[in-house]
Amino acid sequence: MSYVKGLKCRVCETPYPVEPLAICEECFGPLEVDYDYDAIKTKLTREEIASRPPTLWRYRELLPLDADPTVGLQTGFTPLIRADRLARTIGVRELYIKNDAVSHPSLSFKDRVVAVALSKAREFGFEAVGCASTGNLANSVAANAAAAGLPAYILIPDNLEKNKIIGTQVYGANLVPVRGNYDEVNRLCSEIAGRYRFAFVNVNLRPFYGEGSKTFGYEIAEQLGWHAPDAVVVPMAGGSLITKIYKGLNELAKLGLIDRAETRFYGAQAAGCNPIAAAVKAGTRDIRPVKPDTIAKSLSIGNPADGYFATGVITETGGWSEDVSDREILESIELLAAAEGVFAETAGGTTLAVTRKLIEQGRIRPEDRVVIAITGNGLKTVEALQLEELNSIEPKLSAFEALLDKQRSAIAA
Ligand SMILES: *Cc1c(COP(=O)(O)O)cnc(C)c1O
Ligand SMILES: [Zn+2]
Repeated sequence: MSYVKGLKCRVCETPYPVEPLAICEECFGPLEVDYDYDAIKTKLTREEIASRPPTLWRYRELLPLDADPTVGLQTGFTPLIRADRLARTIGVRELYIKNDAVSHPSLSFKDRVVAVALSKAREFGFEAVGCASTGNLANSVAANAAAAGLPAYILIPDNLEKNKIIGTQVYGANLVPVRGNYDEVNRLCSEIAGRYRFAFVNVNLRPFYGEGSKTFGYEIAEQLGWHAPDAVVVPMAGGSLITKIYKGLNELAKLGLIDRAETRFYGAQAAGCNPIAAAVKAGTRDIRPVKPDTIAKSLSIGNPADGYFATGVITETGGWSEDVSDREILESIELLAAAEGVFAETAGGTTLAVTRKLIEQGRIRPEDRVVIAITGNGLKTVEALQLEELNSIEPKLSAFEALLDKQRSAIAA
């Protein structure tokens, strides 16, 4: 059932067996999963995929499990929304929103990586799981571990949004806030994973975790009628998602499921945490770590593990990376909600604000077919919003009509 050949170093290509291992012992490069694409090609057709249930497991030949999945069986196949009202506002002809704000079960794209990583953790026989998280991963590991009956140890920076904390704690996970930023939390998790037999999904299981993100790209192509878009705009924290969407589209081309993958990749960051965007703008692949300070906490990774590869994907495909202020992020959250009825978290505001900037710069052109990656739900980051204060009225028609009059005169003025 598995088409996995093994793990392989992304830098020096040293092969490794399938083990809970993330780093090359020769060069310290990250490991990734390698498949037998020739064998997959004889098996997997568009019709075969289309006949399967609408979850990310419809692409199971391209995911690194040996047996049937056991976690996240309902995850994936979120809506791809044609966003004509928003397209007109920002000045492109054909714009789509890939909406993982409504991902099952925890309302972010992290459900994809966790479905794969926890299914793999069970194959490896781990009895406890965990993660280092900027929030959404914590929510997803907690929810999926609860459903799988696995104990979870979840470490987070202690300054996360309230709803990200509640949306982890409620599942009964062992939630550990750490007095430090994500990079310090991540380092601590590596030390714990070195000593205890825990499956930290984004540390020792990182090669398997990353594969789940490819399905975001597979779905975009399938939902566009088996075409790759001209441009995709992706929010970046550790820089994994953007590289995996790229890997996913290239795999589809290699398998003949799409004609070609010539998509330009654009990476979005907040100005208050922009190590990947800064490297792209400086014309280098070397990431200079930063200390995060932005409302986009889900993207607040100052020393991104996949930064080097993200800059590679962006420059090789003819894309670009930009960063935007917290004020621009908030404006774009409200624009997306008002134009399309989609309430995204701060990462989504970042993505749309960067898209607008790229259109103004002429890097994304009006004739491009553009997909923006909306990766998390706005109800999780409500304290970032600064909406108008509301005044209540008496329960009387006259009070409501006074309100209408006021609005009409405001419009007329
Ligand atoms: C984690 C996350 C990202 C980016 O993930 P990376 O793969 O680490 O770049 C984007 N958006 C949201 C909402 C996230 O939680
Ligand atoms: Zn190596």
